[in-house]
Amino acid sequence: MELVLATQNLDKIKEIKDTFKNLGLKIFTFKDFSYFPSIEEDKETPYDNALKKARTIARFTGKIALADDSGLEVEVLGGAPGIFSHRFAGEKASYEDNNRKILSLLEGIPLDERKAAFRCLIAISDGGSKEKVVEGICKGRILQEMRGEKGFGYDPLFQPEGFTKTFAQMSLKEKNKISHRGKALKKARKVLEEWTNTTVIGLTGNIGSGKTTVARMFKELGAEIIEADKIGHDLIKKVEVKKNLIRTFGSSILDEKKEIERRKLGRIVFKNKKKLEKLNQILHPLIFAEIKKKIASTQARIVIIDAAILLEAGWNSLVDKVLVVSTSYEAQLKRIKESTRFSSEEIEGIMQAQGPQDKKIQRADFLIRNEGSLKETKRQVEQIWEKELPKPGLN
Ligand code: IMP
Repeated sequence: MELVLATQNLDKIKEIKDTFKNLGLKIFTFKDFSYFPSIEEDKETPYDNALKKARTIARFTGKIALADDSGLEVEVLGGAPGIFSHRFAGEKASYEDNNRKILSLLEGIPLDERKAAFRCLIAISDGGSKEKVVEGICKGRILQEMRGEKGFGYDPLFQPEGFTKTFAQMSLKEKNKISHRGKALKKARKVLEEWTNTTVIGLTGNIGSGKTTVARMFKELGAEIIEADKIGHDLIKKVEVKKNLIRTFGSSILDEKKEIERRKLGRIVFKNKKKLEKLNQILHPLIFAEIKKKIASTQARIVIIDAAILLEAGWNSLVDKVLVVSTSYEAQLKRIKESTRFSSEEIEGIMQAQGPQDKKIQRADFLIRNEGSLKETKRQVEQIWEKELPKPGLN
């Protein structure tokens, strides 16, 4: 995944890059672009400033952007310098100038009244509808003299609560662990994971196995369902596909409205292996492409591809895990008869086209036995959802 940092502050870039290292992120900075807009921080709150920076850079670069707006708040100064942290001692002030100003304002104030906090707001935006702002706070106090050479900004003056060192005496790793920025970045990482990490489950099982019921149960838990059958049904309404099918199977597959009647097409292909192969050659690559497109554009954490012929068609190359719903032959027949108008001969044809259940079970990462009550099926679904599905992570 690609991420662009919406800041030109090299000190912040260093800390963010260090916190996000080893996450498999490709991080871009202003240095990777021949022109990079510098954004005026003219909003009233750090929240709005961070969001403005992230949005602008995401739109400019076309990548997800992360912006940081941070500052120091000193209690006895009524929260100053706050959003003016960067230019506290003047527009062109150096870090040293700002630190000196703080020290002079706090002169004579005893240590235990020099409470302060760093606040960091991190905004992430994709330039469109996806955006999020998270916050990290680090409490501490302002010392009476500067200590340490590391870090930047007010680090030499700031001693975090529970530590004897200032931020400027800590290594990058030590600071990032407890700092306002480190905390906000931890939350930002979670958001990025939610945005980018989708686990794709291929849900398969023969006709009458109760696959659709299982899909519905996953949907209720928050999964997004992609129905391969539905994609196929929509595809045969498309002009080009329709023409191709009529050319291949003749106009007897049309109904009185000149639309393809699936049942008529089914009667032809389910009793003739060669014809079924021909139909598959036409439709399967198109369904594959459509599923791929849907996976790429989803925002869901778990996506379920509901496809009876997932394995036969090779669509399992698109999934992380295969989930098979199995049932006894008797229960299968009973369900098909109850829920469809197919004749025994048609059912036989469909079952043969789908391949044996045992073979599917052999390739399953997860198996749901749908033979008992709905409650029992639901229990198995919930167990997989809670315990088996990988939690999102960037690696
Ligand atoms: P910003 O660019 O408007 O977010 O201003 C941030 C300013 O706050 C910096 O220029 C620093 O003076 C100060 N600041 C923010 N984060 C830190 C930090 O981690 N250590 C020290 N100073 C910081």
